[in-house]
Amino acid sequence: MVFHYFYMLFWLKATINKFSMSLKSIKSSKTLYNEVVNKLTLIYNVDESRQLARMMLEELFLISFEKIMIDEEIVYSISDENSLGEKIEQLVHYQPIQYVLGKAHFYGREFIVNSNVLIPRQETEELINEIIIDNKKSGMKILDIGSGSGCIGITLALELKEAHISSLEIDKSALEVTRENANKHNVKLEYILEDILILKTLPEKYDLIVSNPPYVTEKEKEQMSNNVLDHEPHKALFVPDEDPLLFYKSIVSRAKKHLLPGGKLYFEINEQYGSDIIKLCDDEGGSSTKLVQDINGKDRIVKVMFD
Ligand code: GLN
Repeated sequence: MVFHYFYMLFWLKATINKFSMSLKSIKSSKTLYNEVVNKLTLIYNVDESRQLARMMLEELFLISFEKIMIDEEIVYSISDENSLGEKIEQLVHYQPIQYVLGKAHFYGREFIVNSNVLIPRQETEELINEIIIDNKKSGMKILDIGSGSGCIGITLALELKEAHISSLEIDKSALEVTRENANKHNVKLEYILEDILILKTLPEKYDLIVSNPPYVTEKEKEQMSNNVLDHEPHKALFVPDEDPLLFYKSIVSRAKKHLLPGGKLYFEINEQYGSDIIKLCDDEGGSSTKLVQDINGKDRIVKVMFD
């Protein structure tokens, strides 16, 4: 009997809860937008706050900014309210908007992201562009070292004709994100869960190897914003001050063995080490080595061929 009583009480509470969570109220989208902007200005400047508020409302309520401007009403449940409150809280704690919303844009497509992977950067879109311009052959075998979200490999699979892509990643949770994004974009990849620094051998030879490895030195931490420093995976960003080319050395030595004749290696690099990385590639027997600047005029891409 006692058991029944408690069970009934529990059931009643859960039902009321469920009911109230789904209760809808109606709110002016302009009012909601302004409320969000106000909360964000605690931390961000007005322009940033407006941009973030707009992205949040567009995403959570599927409402376009044009509709907000004409003050269309938003249908709003308690669970929407909770979710919005939670997300504002995350933004106020400097979580990047891409992690808060779970997605980022790269080369015109949407990619799933979480704190196990770097948020795709514009510089990496420039790396993709460079590869696409240079490589028109179909059926290329490509290895992406340090795949993270998978944005490089998946974009190449979609932009190049019949490319076969292998994604190598040290971190299991990051490789899971690569896989989710490959599924999202209907791309078939080979997955290699390995540490490039200790890996004995690679499964095959490739026409092209590409990598955006960790390249920020520890001493550069001081100049980084909280957004990056407190939330993005350090494993994907940092290298020791005393060995900033750690990953480049390892990748060049593997490329020498695992590129098909005339195969090419493409790197994204730290702007401070352009000439050092060019020298490394030349010393290891690379040819047609080239340093390319990003849109801000900084040394950002190295490409080299191995015969
Ligand atoms: N470009 C990234 C940044 O600015 C670094 C990426 C990397 O280390 N590969 O933080």
